[in-house]
Amino acid sequence: MRYLIISDIHANIDALEAVLERADDAWDCLLVLGDLVGYGAEPNLVIDTLLGLSPLAVIRGNHDKAACGLDDGSGFNHVARLAATWTGERLTPANKTFLRELPSGPRFIDDLVEICHGAPFDEDYYIFDGGDAVRGLESATRPLCFFGHTHLPVMFWVKDHAYEGAAPGGQTDTTLSIEEGTRYLVNGGSVGQPRDGDPRAAFALFDTESRELTLVRVPYAVDKAQRRILAAGLPASLANRLALGR
Ligand code: ZN
Repeated sequence: MRYLIISDIHANIDALEAVLERADDAWDCLLVLGDLVGYGAEPNLVIDTLLGLSPLAVIRGNHDKAACGLDDGSGFNHVARLAATWTGERLTPANKTFLRELPSGPRFIDDLVEICHGAPFDEDYYIFDGGDAVRGLESATRPLCFFGHTHLPVMFWVKDHAYEGAAPGGQTDTTLSIEEGTRYLVNGGSVGQPRDGDPRAAFALFDTESRELTLVRVPYAVDKAQRRILAAGLPASLANRLALGR
């Protein structure tokens, strides 16, 4: 099975389309790790596009919860809360219901793979450093756990119960063989709002047969996504940050 793993799309249809074009026919099943909406200007278009691909699994992110009213957004900063309110007002009733009914992570995909939004032990937790990663690796029940939420591509791994380290994903496409006996925690990065200083959209591919994992970056029409945000009346800072990858 070949999985296309995407996270943190954030209503950025231009980035999503570039990812789908690049991934092309290199995948069989789509896994979506949450934050389909929030920040960007095309929440309905993004949800409709994803549903059209019949994803194998979609889990919710914190922005999905805020946009559909499951969370009051009180933990959000001012701009994020504005965007969540804007999104909630524009979602079609069907798409709002879809977000409301999304399951929380972690979800177990097969014997090898599980997915979560923040961490396997808490869907809203941010895994940034080795300490967080050890906790995540210990609580994951599959050898390969994909996560999102931080918008930073990174790989953590542990072998024979000894934490071995981390590697930033990102600037160039990275391919890695998933080894037997090693456990991995992998963030493929964000499709719609990268934050590692590289504005290109990020995603991951994993082939369960060859056990090959690839982290990919793809350029997209940032200016188009920015124009949509400004035309929608969303804060200009949300458009500006896309060009910076921050
Ligand atoms: Zn996010």
